[in-house]
Amino acid sequence: MAQSSSKPVSESKSSKNMKQISEYFGKSVFGPKAMAEYVSKEAIKAVNEARTTGKPMDRKMADQIAEGMKNWAIEKGATHYTHWFQPLRGSTAEKHDAFFEPTGIDTGVEHFSGKALVQQEPDASSFPSGGIRNTFEARGYSAWDPSSPAFIMEKASGKTLCIPTIFVAYTGEALDYKAPLIKSTNFLTKTATEVCQYFDTNIKNAKVSLGIEQEYFLVDEELYHQRPDLVFAGRTLVGNMPAKGQQLEDHYFGSIPERIYNFMTDFEKEALKLGIPLKTRHNEVAPGQYECAPMFEEADIAIDHNSLLMDVMQSVAGRHKLKVIWHEKPFKGVNGSGKHNNWSIVTDTGVNLLSPGMSPQDNLQFLTFFINTIKAVHDHADLLRASIATAANDHRLGANEAPPAIMSVFIGSTLAQVLHQFEHSKASGKPGRVSEKTINVYRIPEILLDNTDRNRTSPFAFTGNKFEFRAVGSSDHCSNAIIVLNTIVANQLSVFKKDVDALIRKKVNKHSAIEQVLISYVKSSKKILFEGNGYSAEWVKEAAKRGLSNIKTTPYALDAYNSKASKDLFVNNNIFTRKELEARTEIKYEDYVLKIQIEGRILGELAKNYVIPAAVAYQKKLVDTIEGLGKVGLSKTDNKALLQIVKEISKHTNAIWDNNAKMTEERRKANLITHADKKAKAYCDKVKPYFESIRESADKLEELIDNDSWKLPKYRDLLFLK
Ligand code: ADP
Ligand code: MG
Repeated sequence: MAQSSSKPVSESKSSKNMKQISEYFGKSVFGPKAMAEYVSKEAIKAVNEARTTGKPMDRKMADQIAEGMKNWAIEKGATHYTHWFQPLRGSTAEKHDAFFEPTGIDTGVEHFSGKALVQQEPDASSFPSGGIRNTFEARGYSAWDPSSPAFIMEKASGKTLCIPTIFVAYTGEALDYKAPLIKSTNFLTKTATEVCQYFDTNIKNAKVSLGIEQEYFLVDEELYHQRPDLVFAGRTLVGNMPAKGQQLEDHYFGSIPERIYNFMTDFEKEALKLGIPLKTRHNEVAPGQYECAPMFEEADIAIDHNSLLMDVMQSVAGRHKLKVIWHEKPFKGVNGSGKHNNWSIVTDTGVNLLSPGMSPQDNLQFLTFFINTIKAVHDHADLLRASIATAANDHRLGANEAPPAIMSVFIGSTLAQVLHQFEHSKASGKPGRVSEKTINVYRIPEILLDNTDRNRTSPFAFTGNKFEFRAVGSSDHCSNAIIVLNTIVANQLSVFKKDVDALIRKKVNKHSAIEQVLISYVKSSKKILFEGNGYSAEWVKEAAKRGLSNIKTTPYALDAYNSKASKDLFVNNNIFTRKELEARTEIKYEDYVLKIQIEGRILGELAKNYVIPAAVAYQKKLVDTIEGLGKVGLSKTDNKALLQIVKEISKHTNAIWDNNAKMTEERRKANLITHADKKAKAYCDKVKPYFESIRESADKLEELIDNDSWKLPKYRDLLFLK
């Protein structure tokens, strides 16, 4: 690919022979089409079986598939292969091996065995494991996940065959996101299918669908490298809002600048070749902020694709001399970024279980899944909050611009009315007898698909035929949120089934039993529903009155993973073992500590190496000037303003110096704490508050000091890309 800045050569060339997307979509994926060409029917059957039943494949078949995969990849120009997986920290991990094997001094062949396809032993000691590996001195291995197709990753330096895998310790514990994600999806598939039997016995399977909207910022690569805070912390730790910010919201509706547009079309093409079904692109609210979204897919694949997309975007950005900023809040005073997770369940008969549908029969089925989801969110709101907790997302949640830290569900006025009617008309009727006619009362018009009934301030909103979990952070791995969401809803559906079956055993008719149970859920989970402005101060008060949690920071949010209820939920449903859950939670506390620790150090460095030297340089200029002016006869009163600036600068410099010393001392103290959760809380409560006070002084200095002395690129340079 071409190396250039604002207008890559490849762009103008490729646009000339620009093909339709359908011509290159999925070209770099070893999907059904490629398999049909390179692998025997027998082997394809074996892959499909492994895919649907999870049954391990025998060696002979694996060898056949490996051979076909290799031939396909080599024909596409790949020289290496890698097991591609998603460790618990960082985005994706790869260790590349060459197909090439020497057979003599100057001879060799390209080789790839079933064994190499199925299992690998990456040097895993550096991946976080929350002590699992240390305790058992076990090594980790990666195992092929046939449910996600292999693909070819193209970089300027060459092509690599990537084989999606799960990553596990030899003692069996999962060390990645994928294994528990698959378990949670299967759990939901199973319980949803069981519940579907009440309505339609033709339904044999139900799949979780997920569409992930990804927000991000773009900054110029060269400027990015001049900001140690962006490079090492992913966000700016000092810096002022420019006079022209997002007040006018002109960016959101404006056209996409050409340089950005070129980047977008370029990465979209790469992503589409990898089978990522990108559909939309647009500017976001903040200057320099954008969004893209693929068509929804099966949840596990959608999440793989999101990780892959992030890789592709960052790598393509390099060609355009851009840097993608994934952080949830890279710039103070400018909107942050999220990753909206549009989530639903679709049956093998093609019915979206969260689509209100047109017939009463559909409505009761819809209400079942709709109400059970609400009930699950109500009962496990803290766990859901924990699932999106990261140091970075703390800046966003509750910061008056993003879905608040208070978990609530928005359903829109029509459905709120439907639930109200549902609850009350039944409550006044005779229990145990329900006719088709009664159900007709709840006929729900299919009007919600448009934008008339939207609420952008809700962390968890129903948007027509899906729930949109909007509080997920832009840099986060969606598995965190989706494992929890799948598990709580699946668990809730199994409770629902028990409740309904118990009534049926008491000779209550089926529809009536379903209604009775649903009504009891509507009553008991009502307090989680909120239709108003989630950013308002009134909601904070109102939520407290309702007894809803408002957990503002990560170390406290994470505690929800340690509760007995959570442990039972995950362990009893085989999503995590107790040890896995504890290890993961520990990693999350550790992660928090690391992030805040790094930010603290970088801030200290910025203060000492950039901000204070800039202050001193400018003060020197001023002092020299004052001295010079004195020589020509100007008095102190004449130089009042200049002297005042010199004084002001000293005041802020001293404040930075003192606060940095105090922060360093708090870090030292926090580092002595051995418990991961207590340490994280110390970092949160004792260290982090200094970020604000140091920043305040630094930002005042940025305002006071002349541009020549200020070496850090400013917001106006970073945000208004040319
Ligand atoms: P928005 O509703 O946020 O304005 P879209 O309607 O384009 O935007 O949908 C956003 C995302 O939701 C897309 O990725 C889309 O594919 C996905 N989506 C649509 N329907 C479903 C569904 N039934 N299940 C899961 N995701 C869905
Ligand atoms: Mg959306």
